Amino acid sequence: MKVYRIALVPGDGIGKEVVPAGRRLLEALARTESDCQFAFEEFPWGADFYRNHGVMMPDDGLEALKAKDAILFGSAGDPAVPDHITLWGLRLKICQGLDQYANVRPARILPGIDAPLKRCGVEDLNWVMVRENTEGEYSGAGGRVHPGFPLEVAADMSVMTRAGVERIQRFAFRLAASRPRRQLTVVTKSNAQRHAMVMWDEIACEVAREFPEVAWDKEMVDAMTARMVNRPASLDTIVATNLHADILSDLAAALAGGLGLGPTANLNPERVYPSMFEPIHGSAFDIMGKGLANPIGTFWSVVLMLEHLGEAEAARRAMRAIEQATANPKLHTPDLGGSATTGEVTEAVCALVGAAAKNPLATA
Ligand code: NAD
Ligand code: MN
Repeated sequence: MKVYRIALVPGDGIGKEVVPAGRRLLEALARTESDCQFAFEEFPWGADFYRNHGVMMPDDGLEALKAKDAILFGSAGDPAVPDHITLWGLRLKICQGLDQYANVRPARILPGIDAPLKRCGVEDLNWVMVRENTEGEYSGAGGRVHPGFPLEVAADMSVMTRAGVERIQRFAFRLAASRPRRQLTVVTKSNAQRHAMVMWDEIACEVAREFPEVAWDKEMVDAMTARMVNRPASLDTIVATNLHADILSDLAAALAGGLGLGPTANLNPERVYPSMFEPIHGSAFDIMGKGLANPIGTFWSVVLMLEHLGEAEAARRAMRAIEQATANPKLHTPDLGGSATTGEVTEAVCALVGAAAKNPLATA
């Protein structure tokens, strides 16, 4: 029997509501799948920790995470603490510290979801967006000079390394090759950014030679936004820089039905360090503490976690339960136009997982 060591990092805002929901789903799976168990450890890091200790997570926090098989993360962000402190002190610290260089975000229109694209006659989309997750525009390089004086200067430097670009492009080509359409779109902006993005394009051409079976094309990031809306079926696997994919993946989530639904995997593909799974959304200050957060994005992230751990059958079972829940409008939270609570959706998904286990033929 395999016991997976799972770190739970709820963080702030609705992270504290959706991560416990994700834990409930894993527990429901473990109850019915005797050879796959989970040992949880919760880390109370985030803005409350910051208020008490002056840091978002302790110095030895990364070491504690390294001992785990995977991390389930909620969100970093608090109304009373500047966003750059919460983000850099927790989420980016973990992603960079554990070399989770591939951020992977699938986008599909789940059953029962009234996505904007559906109103344009698009029945489904099936995208995976790959985001470079450790350098580029969010490298952290830069600084401020003469703070507070009229001659103040501020600079954020986008840093791209050949090694960093090569590994994310290779990851994306490999992922594209593993999907039925074998198609990759490389997002760029090499007309205006004439150094790093030109290297990005050159490396895409080089890596493409290793994958003759993948049909690939290039799209400027601005044109990409229009293509996602106007010709969604022309896209399959997508790779983009840290900033570009940050923006494009929120657009993808919105087009697929909303920020509450989208999942994320922050992968260390070589598995030297544990990978981290989280919903695409943030702390959602406007609804936090009310029990109204949609837990589906976290549940789908749990599915990505199970796939990464090699638990394909448990992942399929969880995804089926998620799709049965979204297909039922009574289980829609207010962001989807319904009135269900986080707790009600969680109960329902856990019950569906249990029912599928009792009667495997019913959902086969
Ligand atoms: P957000 O995702 O928190 O919220 C945007 C909108 O979507 C809000 O109206 C919110 O109510 C809604 N929403 C998001 N998730 C939802 C869910 N599960 N169910 C129902 N509605 C949901 O984005 P924001 O407002 O830009 O950011 C708020 C805070 O979160 C900021 O501090 C930001 O820095 C942080 N943030 C953190 C992460 C992260 O840690 N990965 C990601 C994004 C934003
Ligand atoms: Mn984002």
